[in-house]
Amino acid sequence: MGSCRSTKNGSPVSEHRHVSGGHTHSQQSHAFDLPPLPASVEIFDTTLRDGSQQEGISLTVEDKVRVAEQLDHLGVTYIEGGWPGANPKDSEFFARAHRELKLATSTLVAFGSTRRAGVTAEHDEGLRTLVAANTPVVCLVAKAWDRHVEDALRTSLDEAVAMVADSVDFLVRNDKRVFVDAEHFFDGYRHHPEFALAVLRAAEEAGAQTLVLCDTNGGTLPSQLGSVVTEVVSKFSTGIGIHCHNDAGVAVANSLAAVGAGATQVQGCINGYGERAGNTDLTVAIANLSLKMHVRTVPEDRLERLTAVSHHIAELVNVTPNPQQPYVGPSVFAHKGGLHASAVARRRDLYEHVDPSLVGNAMRVVVSEMAGRSTLAMKSEELGLELDPAILGTILEDLKQLEYEGYHFEVADGSLELLLRRATGWTPSFFQVESFRVITDHHEDLRHGEVATEATVKVVIGDERRVETAEGNGPINALDAALRQAIGPAFPALDAVRLQDYRVRVLDTGRGTGAVTRVLIDSANPERSWTTIGVSENVIEASWQALYDSIIYALVHPAS
Ligand SMILES: [Zn+2]
Repeated sequence: MGSCRSTKNGSPVSEHRHVSGGHTHSQQSHAFDLPPLPASVEIFDTTLRDGSQQEGISLTVEDKVRVAEQLDHLGVTYIEGGWPGANPKDSEFFARAHRELKLATSTLVAFGSTRRAGVTAEHDEGLRTLVAANTPVVCLVAKAWDRHVEDALRTSLDEAVAMVADSVDFLVRNDKRVFVDAEHFFDGYRHHPEFALAVLRAAEEAGAQTLVLCDTNGGTLPSQLGSVVTEVVSKFSTGIGIHCHNDAGVAVANSLAAVGAGATQVQGCINGYGERAGNTDLTVAIANLSLKMHVRTVPEDRLERLTAVSHHIAELVNVTPNPQQPYVGPSVFAHKGGLHASAVARRRDLYEHVDPSLVGNAMRVVVSEMAGRSTLAMKSEELGLELDPAILGTILEDLKQLEYEGYHFEVADGSLELLLRRATGWTPSFFQVESFRVITDHHEDLRHGEVATEATVKVVIGDERRVETAEGNGPINALDAALRQAIGPAFPALDAVRLQDYRVRVLDTGRGTGAVTRVLIDSANPERSWTTIGVSENVIEASWQALYDSIIYALVHPAS
């Protein structure tokens, strides 16, 4: 059924729907047909609850509000905001969310636990806090593995089932829609299926709207998980959800298998955040469900926001994006190498599993010494430069020579662009550098390890000569400060430019002439980021080259 649906929008990848594993496709073959699938699934994001358990992630209330806005912008069905009452931050988030978070598409969900053993639901403080969180939906976690009931709750299995029934009933009576996360469901189902099913049954009978099967330890494989979901779906009329952790590296695959088996809610986190190996990466799951399985997830016109939202949230949670993250990573549609790239130029659908623009990503040409003329031509086209085909050969020779000397242009897009611009006859005319000097002093009376660095830069802007001196905590910092002092007043666009990272690597070129130093500088303004490079036997000279390129690039592309 699934794969025979008519194609949308005539994208170059539509024919791939009958293809798997690189085999030749055939419109007649049904060997790779998908199982019957639901027309749509609910996307339940738990970045703000489960995702923020990731080591190193610590979100302020303000961060959480900003992440929720991004999730709404993408259009997920549900946003789990946290566990009100569990910590002051989550409590404050729900209070603020109620006042100022205006969600256009998504519905906010509060997370909590079933009532404690031996207490009525009415007298359980946790449940009362959940009601007070003022969200239309509550997601309740319930233990579905008998051993956890005995070891962690230290109560009877009957009481554990009653806790689920009472808690769901209480919340439903308080006008909540209730989802139940059956924690450790797959392990529980393996060890004591009657109990695991009794938990789901109690939730269903008390009025839960979705029964969410959780692979909490993340150790289940897709084939096992798919058959368990099939069995559960056949036993219940309530909607079934899936919540997977990535400990075996198959959280996304498990989530897709669950949808193939009839699940209609997929829980996970943007970028796969979460403790240990993380949760289902919703960015990847959404793309696969929408583009490959043709199951509706976020509103169709929002899918192209996927890459931007993924990167924006990465910035908010302060985690460097993974360049190889499927669909949204900066490297996943990058092509390198002469022959390959020239073939890509002719027939992109032969080298890309989907059209990157469908998820808001873009094909990118990576230029290195392996590049051929066509790679270079594509790169200049990407940059909007008109390069005379006659000089492509010369540029290529220069590029190869520079790479031999230690430059590495595939990681320095900023410097590469300037190199290509210069090849068109362009020279930057913003300012002329007369000279620079760096002095580093070591003073015995300074704290151990502290060294004072001072830089002087002499530049000419128009007819004005400027000599500026600045101090810094190192040569690059001092040079940057002096250069900005000298030219900043003439170029206010530099105010918005930040140097984000500075990397130095000593390269043994193997030519017997000693080592050279390669410096890479990452810079950004509010609209873009770029990397520039310098190579020299002298680390300060290499740093200066990279810094100079960074500043020139910033002046070529000022933020508006
Ligand atoms: Zn979880």
